[in-house]
Amino acid sequence: MIDFEIARDAQTGRETWSVPLKGPLLLNHPLFNKGTAFPEDERRELGLLGLLPPHVDSLDAQLERAYAAFQRKETDLERHIYLRALQDENEVLFYRLMQDYIGEMMPIVYTPTVGEACQQFSHIYRHPRGLFVAYPQRDDVDALLANTPQRDVDVIVVTDGERILGLGDQGAGGMGIPIGKLALYTLCGGIHPARTLPVLLDAGTDNEALLNDPLYMGWRHPRVRGAEYDEFVERFVQAVMRRYPNVLLQWEDFAQANAGPLLERYRDRLCTFNDDIQGTAAVATGTVLAAIKATGARLRDQIIAVFGAGSAGCGISEQLCAAMVRDGLSEAEAHSRFYLVDRPGLLREGLSGLLPFQQPFAQPAARLAGWRLGQAGTVGLAEVVSNAHPTVLIGVSGVTGAFTEEVIKAMASRVPHPIVLPLSNPTSRCEALPAQVLAWTEGRALVATGSPFADVAWEGRTIPIPQCNNSYIFPGLGLGILAAGARRVTPGMFMAAAQALADASPASGTPDAPLLPPLTAIRSVSRCIALAVAKEAIAAGLAALPSNADLERLVDERMWTPAYARLTGI
Ligand code: NAD
Repeated sequence: MIDFEIARDAQTGRETWSVPLKGPLLLNHPLFNKGTAFPEDERRELGLLGLLPPHVDSLDAQLERAYAAFQRKETDLERHIYLRALQDENEVLFYRLMQDYIGEMMPIVYTPTVGEACQQFSHIYRHPRGLFVAYPQRDDVDALLANTPQRDVDVIVVTDGERILGLGDQGAGGMGIPIGKLALYTLCGGIHPARTLPVLLDAGTDNEALLNDPLYMGWRHPRVRGAEYDEFVERFVQAVMRRYPNVLLQWEDFAQANAGPLLERYRDRLCTFNDDIQGTAAVATGTVLAAIKATGARLRDQIIAVFGAGSAGCGISEQLCAAMVRDGLSEAEAHSRFYLVDRPGLLREGLSGLLPFQQPFAQPAARLAGWRLGQAGTVGLAEVVSNAHPTVLIGVSGVTGAFTEEVIKAMASRVPHPIVLPLSNPTSRCEALPAQVLAWTEGRALVATGSPFADVAWEGRTIPIPQCNNSYIFPGLGLGILAAGARRVTPGMFMAAAQALADASPASGTPDAPLLPPLTAIRSVSRCIALAVAKEAIAAGLAALPSNADLERLVDERMWTPAYARLTGI
């Protein structure tokens, strides 16, 4: 653990950090290291003379050199390795580079490239980052946490690596996800990088290829399951609560069988949430609210069809349903406006095998009376569209091309501006390409996707395709929770975040404007979301802050900006 002190000049805001390191140790510390940008006086005071080339660079010159090096890499994985190495060497330079080229670099640091980095983790490993809590060390979790370099931690992202993106069990290689996600917390929400901790809970792996890989770095053992697994997670959470009682703990990429139960078990015990379930729901809800704002309609009047009733599909439906209730409907009225379709067709009364989280969305048999059904009495997406006339269609099935021309045209025949969100990732799994949806709807549809897509040219218009990216929500949510000193993460906070995202949308009464702000504006979006979330926490009586007075200042002060502080010895 390395303690350092920060003094801030009240007039210029410039920080001076008193650090306990000198010479090579200082150059090896990614948060303190400025590389060739150490000025002459700091080089002299901190024992760096001779350890660096004599010319003193500006941060801009370093950025130019770093970007050129990034561009020279030939594959996305090489670019990822380069950026990760830069992060481990000089965090200010890393975050400034990310900030200046956010559209180009976010997909390299996080999805989709991070998936390949997780798969290759044991082969591209360079430098330690984050905490590995392996099952055989389950009796020593307190000691493991005490070994981390951070004195205080504000945000932990933890995974057990079992369901990494759409790539399944990556074992210890899943560590790439918490590292990448926390980089986005800093990049998009200004969470101080020294106060974040990525954690990999290594409960083994059932990935045979990894178990047989001589270079695999994780615990070489089949996954521990059942009571032993639950006990392992419990020990971890208890150790975290002892050491960092106010931390925000985010669960990421757990298998469906564990994700929901873990959230239920811990949501009332500490400040915690699951981004795959709740963050996804909030960003999709914010996007639908933005689209509705663009068309001038009301949420309570929408009919919503969701294709793929898994974690994301049911989470999004729950959140949109709560938003409809907020818009004046009863719970029952709101539920009646949702048509969720999974492998066996429409979720409906009497369908066997419905999971507990799907049951609230089963449509009563009476509602289907008089429907024209498919061959052999099936009720699939086509039947839902032709009978229920949805105004919003969301795809979270991972089924390529599920939104066919027939389905989209049938929807568009009834709705002036169909809202279509093919959210499945990666790009190859998308339910329909944005250009297809726009062509089949004569440019009338409002489209947002899960993967990034280029603008679509349509009859002289350039239509931007916003990416319904969870990064619009979780960094601002985290910032708001920290600024308010919130003790729990509640559905109300996700609703506040979704509404703040919709409010930040450039599309207001005009279907032609982009539905979501550009990624280049993400820090200011996160700030708006943070304010909304903090206000909700205060109003709910769940915050350390007694009132909203001074909230803006507290949020702004929490936002770390990648700039070199003046360094001095202790
Ligand atoms: P999941 O496995 O929990 O859910 C997928 C559901 O689709 C399952 O219930 C499955 O039975 C259903 N399905 C599969 N084939 C089907 C078919 N032929 N017909 C009908 N239903 C079918 O996965 P998830 O976590 O809910 O993620 C689903 C997709 O959503 C993924 O592609 C993921 O990348 C994407 N996603 C996007 C975002 C985002 O854009 N922000 C966020 C989260 C998830």
